[in-house]
Amino acid sequence: MSQSTPVYVTQPYLPPLDEFIPYLRQIWDNKVLTNCGPFHQQLERALCDYLGVEHIALFTNGTIALVTALQALRVTGEVITTPYSFVATSHSLLWNGIKPVFVDIDPNTLNMDPARIESAITPQTTAIMPVHCYGHPCDVEAIQMIADNYNLKVIYDAAHAFGVDCSCGSILKHGDLSVLSFHATKVFNTFEGGAIVCPDEKTKIRIDQLKNFGHVGEINVVAPGINGKMSEFNAALGLLQLKYIDQAIAKRKKIDARYREQLSCVKGIHCLNGAEEKVANYAYFPILVGSDYPLNRDGLNQRLKDNGINPRRYFFPLITEFPMYRGLPSAARENLPVATAAASKVLCLPIYPDLEISIVDEIASFIATQSK
Ligand SMILES: *Cc1c(COP(=O)(O)O)cnc(C)c1O
Repeated sequence: MSQSTPVYVTQPYLPPLDEFIPYLRQIWDNKVLTNCGPFHQQLERALCDYLGVEHIALFTNGTIALVTALQALRVTGEVITTPYSFVATSHSLLWNGIKPVFVDIDPNTLNMDPARIESAITPQTTAIMPVHCYGHPCDVEAIQMIADNYNLKVIYDAAHAFGVDCSCGSILKHGDLSVLSFHATKVFNTFEGGAIVCPDEKTKIRIDQLKNFGHVGEINVVAPGINGKMSEFNAALGLLQLKYIDQAIAKRKKIDARYREQLSCVKGIHCLNGAEEKVANYAYFPILVGSDYPLNRDGLNQRLKDNGINPRRYFFPLITEFPMYRGLPSAARENLPVATAAASKVLCLPIYPDLEISIVDEIASFIATQSK
């Protein structure tokens, strides 16, 4: 196998360009470019309907949304989080002067292990920030039980979990707040973008103030807010993307099923399963390369790359390996054996709506036929 055009772990989904032109014309006619204009308002409503949630506040990206979510709930002190994520999760804590406390993950889902949370709680702990890794739901009930017992807030980094439902409806309804990313690489993209899902009007109003410099009306400023507003360009694109999202997820589902079918009997390759989701989004296709496979993870990664296939080692290195986290006691590898092992075995294979099934087959059979 050698791909003449390189295949990457993802390729952003784009709607037909000519369908976007009328939206642009409307922006040019209105001359409203930002500050919660008509497309911004329409997209907030459309996303509430699509996702089955009550309130959404759109943002310029997911990271600013995470930073603002912590401020909206006045989270301080220490927050319990996972090392197995994109670095923005814990960076949002540092941006608020909060100390991250890392706990290990569950070996089956690679999500935060609820059994590890309690012993990490100190008098300074005010919140838990788990991640629905790869769009697979966390054990939301166990996490909520601990949060209720210790009076902690729960903010989910739901950057991977667009459109995911658990048995009781949208996964985004759990915890106090959930944060989405609409970055180019995510299942639903607005080029750059993000959102906070919140349960009540009062919280949404506070979040809307915080994303607009803390402004209330024309001359009052009530908090040191940031500029986190989504522009009309991005919101318009989001409205158009929503028309195609079901189609895009259906294509991902086919690719996911094909990989599973083709890789299920390859010795040493383990396809990560979903968790409790009723509706999945197939955002990623992570495999774990075991010791009974002829190559280790990095060997397989390199061999794929040499042949024009570019998987990604999400998540390697662990967040706790980066210099701004390494010194924390909770960042020690002995505290995180499951996450440390997962980071050395995981490889996310290409998955995106326009990936041809024939290429999926080629990737799978390439993996199946490697030897030392
Ligand atoms: C993408 C991502 C983010 C950051 O979102 P941006 O929109 O790129 O700022 C945060 N957390 C996780 C887990 C992500 O994958």
